[in-house]
Amino acid sequence: MKLVFVNIMQELQRFDSMSYLTQPPIPFAILNAVTPKAIETALVDEQTDEVRWEGDAFGFSVSTQNSKAVYDYADALRAGGKKVILGGIHVTVCPEEAMCHADAIVTGEAETIWSEVCEDLLAGRLRGRYEGSPTPPSRMTPVDYRFFGNRRYLTPASLFATRGCNRRCSFCVSSRYMGPYRTKPLEVLEQEVDQLTRLYPQAFLQFTDDNLLASRKYAAELLALLRRKRRRFATMVTVDQFCDRALMEEMAASGCLGVAVGVESVDDNNCAAVSKYQNLQQPFVDAVHRANQLGIQTVALIMVGLPHDTPQALERTLEYLKQVPCSYYDMRVLRIYPSTPLYREMLATGDVTENWWLKTESSGTCNQLLPSSLSMHFRHGRFDSMQLQHLSLRFIAELSGTGLGTVSQILRVGYRGRALRFAGLLLAGRQRSARQARMLLRQVEQAMVASGQTAASPWCSPVVENAAARLAASAVPESAGSKP
Ligand code: SF4
Repeated sequence: MKLVFVNIMQELQRFDSMSYLTQPPIPFAILNAVTPKAIETALVDEQTDEVRWEGDAFGFSVSTQNSKAVYDYADALRAGGKKVILGGIHVTVCPEEAMCHADAIVTGEAETIWSEVCEDLLAGRLRGRYEGSPTPPSRMTPVDYRFFGNRRYLTPASLFATRGCNRRCSFCVSSRYMGPYRTKPLEVLEQEVDQLTRLYPQAFLQFTDDNLLASRKYAAELLALLRRKRRRFATMVTVDQFCDRALMEEMAASGCLGVAVGVESVDDNNCAAVSKYQNLQQPFVDAVHRANQLGIQTVALIMVGLPHDTPQALERTLEYLKQVPCSYYDMRVLRIYPSTPLYREMLATGDVTENWWLKTESSGTCNQLLPSSLSMHFRHGRFDSMQLQHLSLRFIAELSGTGLGTVSQILRVGYRGRALRFAGLLLAGRQRSARQARMLLRQVEQAMVASGQTAASPWCSPVVENAAARLAASAVPESAGSKP
């Protein structure tokens, strides 16, 4: 029996500036470690490998973004007599849907029940549904990174120390899927850090945790460990953590190179509307300046399409953000994930359709041109999908500039943090993002012109305005000639 773990990253392949952000799919290494020896295992990772379907059974981790692609693969494999097992966040929140495409599904965290699934697979008696439970810290064991072989990931030393999140932002599905906030025993984490040092001595540690610093006591112990191990690292932080001077100083002293900050919106009304209370009334700009002084690069995670966004407000936000010296802006359109409070609210008002992730996108919009992080699957009273996509691409294009001032600022931060290579990665990322956003902008603008919605749009770029003017000019003689 050969079981193949398959990592599908459909979304990334459609956006060049994100496709290089590759990292090992750690959950499969965790499952591999608890797979009985009687089963041969392999990994197919769409980020790095040519996908080949050579095996008897296939295990997929399903997210809302890749659900349709995974279901298509799963249906084809099952039609060919292969067994398919599905798990992951999307399966946990939409189990009935996933069961239509699988021989078995696993909800929740799979590692506690995986050996039972494997025994049933070997015995040919898979039952439809298995329910995993949150892994207690006492059962967490070190990830064996040798599972990923010599695949070349951008951040091969990715790891996580905690599971879950103690916050409840209303758009967030991962905090609900992951169960209670838990921390990995430090002796287990230390073994992982040592292993990663042996395998990738030059790579920085990339923590993939939703909320690494939620427990300050654990965070202090973790940072002390990283200081002792002299390993550089990057992680995500919440806005209130980022604005905590003492915490950021401790991070810098412990080897932090950069943080991704969950800003989402600079409008407190938007943050309150999605229960992101930790962002309210925080001195974010001061904190960016302080991080720059400390040698920590700031990546701001921004979301557009939030309830209080309007074209005018986002124009003001864009001008405002241009003055904030972040090293990188990661821009996304709000995504309405199933099972979240926001999804339920918007279903009730008819602003989102049930199971939107399964629907083929309408050819009447330009959604199909864009990566799913910039697609719009809901109704917003102030924007249609093309307008919001156009604006988000402008955000990316205009906030990813690599003018002399920006380059020297990012290099200065890198110099202070003794991390010039990391600064180079960010600069390369900015270049890629700006180049691709400009290319996509042209396509979206052509679609806007073709649908005749450009002339009155206050957010039109000069390209759109010129195209609209040309269209209008070419229409004059025709209508003039038809008059009696
Ligand atoms: S802080 Fe981040 S991970 Fe936690 S609930 Fe909010 S969005 Fe989700």
